[in-house]
Amino acid sequence: MGALGVVVGGATGGRGGGDGGGAAGHFPTAGAVAFPSADVRGRVVVLDPGHNGGNGAAAAQIARLVDAGGFQKECDTVGASTDDGYPEHAFTFDVANRAAALLRARGVTVVLTRTDDAGIGPCVDVRGRAAAEAHADLAVSIHADGGPPEGSGFHVIAPAHAPGAVNPGIVEPSARLAVRLRDTFAAATAEPPADYLRSQNGVVERSDLGGLNLSSAPKVFIECANMRNQADAARVTDPAWRQRAAEGIAAGILHFLAER
Ligand SMILES: [Zn+2]
Repeated sequence: MGALGVVVGGATGGRGGGDGGGAAGHFPTAGAVAFPSADVRGRVVVLDPGHNGGNGAAAAQIARLVDAGGFQKECDTVGASTDDGYPEHAFTFDVANRAAALLRARGVTVVLTRTDDAGIGPCVDVRGRAAAEAHADLAVSIHADGGPPEGSGFHVIAPAHAPGAVNPGIVEPSARLAVRLRDTFAAATAEPPADYLRSQNGVVERSDLGGLNLSSAPKVFIECANMRNQADAARVTDPAWRQRAAEGIAAGILHFLAER
């Protein structure tokens, strides 16, 4: 809603159709994404980089069951990886830190659910409650999917009403956050919405994720790409693409904050 302010991202035009076009040729070319000029100093955001580098060697620890909002689920999982072995935990940690830097530059207080990429967890219940713990305005959990190799694209997951969810009041604002993030992420990266899901518009609602069910602040997950897809794998392993992904995430968050 606020006037458009700073524009970040240097890739303004000149990027060929080879990157980001994919199956959806109508999709816009990646470029600069607008940050709103609203004063967001002092607002608090939780960024939750999915998985962790130590999970793979701690099978028993991450398999223990924790509350996921009315049912139990594994503490955490190892996550996906590209066929060449670039792990999701490294991707999410890098993008989260890039997005955190962009938000902190605007005066936002950013709390990360993990501050290194060599630990175990935290469990999904801790991740879910992190926004309440930090008295945050919102939280975004950053992931990359391990979908079917022939499928590509990104999607945002918003909370559906779940029996054990701690705050049904987050469903509506989280849906708005999801749309914001979808639009800014698409604009920043030119990544098309995932083509391998029932929903083709880049937003899905789920009630099976403890990380969403246990949040008392608006929260979404973003699955930035499908790591098992060759074209998406080339994107997630490119630091310049990860920077654009971070810009897209930060812009969506800033727009949401500016409207509240
Ligand atoms: Zn994940």
